[in-house]
Parts: sequence; C-alpha cells; structure tokens
Amino acid sequence: MSADIRSARLGADAIKRNFSELNTPLTELQAIQESARCLFCHDAPCIEACPTGIDIPGFIRKIASGNVRGAAKTILGENIMGNTCGNVCPVEELCEQVCVRNTAESKPVMIGQLQRYATDHVLENWIQLFRRAPSSGRKIAVVGAGPAGLACAHRLAMLGHNVTIYESRDRPGGLNEYGLAAYKMLDDRAAREVTYILDIGGINLETGKTLGVDFKLADLRRDYAAVFIGLGHNTVKALGVDNETLAGVYNAVDFIRRIRQEDLSTLPVGRNVVVIGGGNTAIDMAVQMKKLGAETVTMVYRRGFEDMGATLHEQQVAQTNGVLIRTHAQPRRILARDGHLTGIEFEYTHKDGNGRLAGTGETFTLPADQLFKAIGQALDATPLADDEKPGLIDGRIRVDELQRTSLAGVWAGGDCAPGKDLTVTAVQDGKIAALSIHEYLSHG
Ligand SMILES: Cc1cc2nc3c(=O)[nH]c(=O)nc-3n(C[C@H](O)[C@H](O)[C@H](O)COP(=O)(O)OP(=O)(O)OC[C@H]3O[C@@H](n4cnc5c(N)ncnc54)[C@H](O)[C@@H]3O)c2cc1C
Ligand code: SF4
Repeated sequence: MSADIRSARLGADAIKRNFSELNTPLTELQAIQESARCLFCHDAPCIEACPTGIDIPGFIRKIASGNVRGAAKTILGENIMGNTCGNVCPVEELCEQVCVRNTAESKPVMIGQLQRYATDHVLENWIQLFRRAPSSGRKIAVVGAGPAGLACAHRLAMLGHNVTIYESRDRPGGLNEYGLAAYKMLDDRAAREVTYILDIGGINLETGKTLGVDFKLADLRRDYAAVFIGLGHNTVKALGVDNETLAGVYNAVDFIRRIRQEDLSTLPVGRNVVVIGGGNTAIDMAVQMKKLGAETVTMVYRRGFEDMGATLHEQQVAQTNGVLIRTHAQPRRILARDGHLTGIEFEYTHKDGNGRLAGTGETFTLPADQLFKAIGQALDATPLADDEKPGLIDGRIRVDELQRTSLAGVWAGGDCAPGKDLTVTAVQDGKIAALSIHEYLSHG
C-alpha cells in the first residue's frame, strides 16, 4: 500500500479561510482606543525589551494624537522592517512581556498591532520617510538580502554610501519571503517592504549571485571599502537515523518555502503527518499542515515543553489548531514499505544521573505518510572559505559588539552570527553594523 499523500485535501475556500490572517489589523478607532491604554512610562521597560530600541511610548503617543505618519517614522527610524516585526515578533517574550499593563492586568498594550497599524499606513500610501545623505562616494558590499543585509544596506544608503547587495536567490527578502508562516505574511507583504527599503536609492541588488560560487570574500574585500555578511542559515541539521532521504521525508524549511511560493491547493499533504522538533519552524510546519487538511499532525520533541524554542504562545497556537504535541521522545527508526514512509519509531527520553538526555529503552510508533524534520538550521561556512576567513564560534561567525568579524573591513550579523534567530535581532545587527561601518569609513 502506498502512502496516503494528495493535494487539495480541503476545498479552495477552506484553504483560503485557514490561511487568512492570524491577527486582523486594527481599525482607526481600535488603534486610538488601544493607544489610550499606554501609560507612557518614564524609563519605559518595553524600549529596553525591544532589540531595536524603538521609542514605543513615543510612537504610541503619536498614534493617540492622530500623527500616524510620525509614529511610523519613529518605528522605521530604528527598525526598517518594523512592519514585518509588528506581525511576527514574539512580543509575548519581548516588548509586551514587560508592559506595565501586563504586570497589573495580564493584558499588555498591543504594541505589535499598533506598530503594524502605523507602518501599514506609510506602506499602503507609499509615503517615503527617508532620504539619502549626499553621496560619500564609498562602495560597500552586502552578502544576503535577508533582514540583516537589507537593514544594513538601508542604513548605509541613508548615510550616503553606495551599496551592492549580492543575493543567491532570484528574489530578495530572505526568510521573510521564504520562511515566515504564510498566515503571518499574507499577499505580497514581504515584497512590498523590500521595495520600500530599496526605494531610498543608492542600493544595487544583484540576485542570482552566490558568495563562494560566483565570487569570493577576497574579491569583495579588494573591490569594496567594507563588506557585510548576512548569509543566514544555509543548511539544515539531520536526524542521524537511516532512511532520511525516503519519499515522504522532508526538510521543514524546504517545504515551508513551497508553502510561501506555490499554489496551496497543489501541495502534497499526507493523511498522517509527523513533525520532529520544538522550535518556531516545527510549530509553523505543523500548523500549516493542519491548515492544508492533514487529518492528524503530531509534533514530537525530545525534551519537555519548558525547553522548547517555541514560545508558550506559539505552543498554544499549535494546540488550538489541532496539533498534538508529544514531548520526551526521540526518533529511533524511520519505517518504510516499498520505498515509502509508513511510520516512525520513537524512544522515550529522560535525563540521566548527569543531567544528560538519554533514551529509556521504551518505544512507541506513530504511523506517518509525511515526516518533516525541523530540528534546526545551521551555518555551513564553506562559502567563506578563502586564504583569510572570519573566525567562528559555536559554528557561527564570531563578531564583537559592533558586529565586526576577526577580518579587517568585514562585518556580519543576523542568523549567521551568534544571538537569537529572530527578524528583529537580524535587523538590529544590520543597523549596528552599518553605523559601525560608517564610523570606520569616516575615520579610516
Ligand atoms: C520557518 C521559520 C519561521 C520563522 N518564524 C519567525 C517568526 O515568526 N518571527 C521571527 O522574528 N523570526 C522568525 N524566524 C526567524 C527569522 O526568519 C530569521 O531570524 C531572519 O530571517 C534572519 O535574517 P538573516 O538576514 O540573518 O537571514 P535570512 O533571512 O536567512 O537571509 C539570508 C539571505 O542570504 C542569502 N544567501 C545565503 N547564502 C548566500 C550566499 N552564499 N551568497 C549570497 N546570498 C546568500 C539567502 O538566500 C537569504 O536571502 C523564522 C525562521 C524560520 C526558518
Ligand atoms: S520591533 Fe518587535 S519587539 Fe520591538 S517594539 Fe516592535 S513588536 Fe515589539
């Protein structure tokens, strides 16, 4: 018997409904009412909790007084991807977690939603808020057109420098375009934001150009005054069990890319789906397969709920969408018949006497038509290979507090450097690097 995988398990209307927006945008009245809940704290803790340091009470006060354009300028001046971040930031762990209203009433001011309200206004009405300084005549190379590279390029362009971005894919945006869940980034939201960023001028985007294939780091160091590396993660971790290349076994990030780019009614969807992992990617994978019509979706994580990379809010999103989450189990065998996946054998785990994760020897089997591996992405440093290459730490590019690598004239940031893997932190890395490059060029 072959695996039960087919497209269009749900009708087009049901799929459309399932992939409609997670958060409906605030109306003008709702935005004004919500902004009135802000206490405009002195030394506001939310500013500290935002990785890009947006003056949150400042922008909320502007919304309250009807100055939506001014609010957007306050946001985008610190975080040029503030529109995406308003949709996808795990606010429950960042700005909204420390909101004084959260402590007092368990209901923080909806900072993310207000941020989105203000930035939607300038993007929908195409109000360009930024202008380039007079040209410095200096040329800078940026590798990767994800949030880190785009934020770096935009700030450098604002400061008057000429930037060339080299991007291996045919479209810019990085994981904003290819990774974030489809129900968080509807329509052409990601592309619209990139176009707004490039609209400032002074940024030349070269797509289909790959570091390590079409050119080397040494070429960029020779031809440009400075280089920023924002490669992101370029490889996925393997489970380390047999049969990983079997039909029906997928890398979650590859399939998520298809969900963002292809007609949803043509994607292959199994009756029984298993997702292995405990982070954002695993949750997004599991939720989206349920939304595509899989009958059962089980997410299996080797440790406990409290150890998951996914926030409590995301775990709840998965559960309310019908995903079953099983903890303390690791895959032992991928089961197959006639070259097709039929199930996965798991072994229960516990912590041994030294606090290390170990198998208990007890097993259980889940039937599966599709298995998605979502145990993490990583940096493969091969594209950086050269006579001189930047130093690494824990498999990522080592940087200092100004995002400088160990190589003179080379900066790095985003997922390829240490830190939390979030859009907002990638944007901050790019911004800090740009300011540092500007300082270096001004005094170099
Ligand atoms: C499934 C998934 C869901 C996520 N959900 C969220 C979320 O809800 N909220 C959140 O804040 N974060 C989320 N993240 C994390 C967030 O997307 C990343 O942290 C962020 O995109 C990192 O930005 P970056 O610019 O460092 O890398 P990327 O976005 O990966 O961009 C890197 C760019 O470099 C290009 N590139 C790679 N190698 C080369 C090369 N050799 N030469 C030229 N170009 C190259 C790539 O094509 C890509 O465009 C999610 C990630 C995943 C995988
Ligand atoms: S960028 Fe993210 S963390 Fe910062 S204020 Fe906006 S939603 Fe909160």
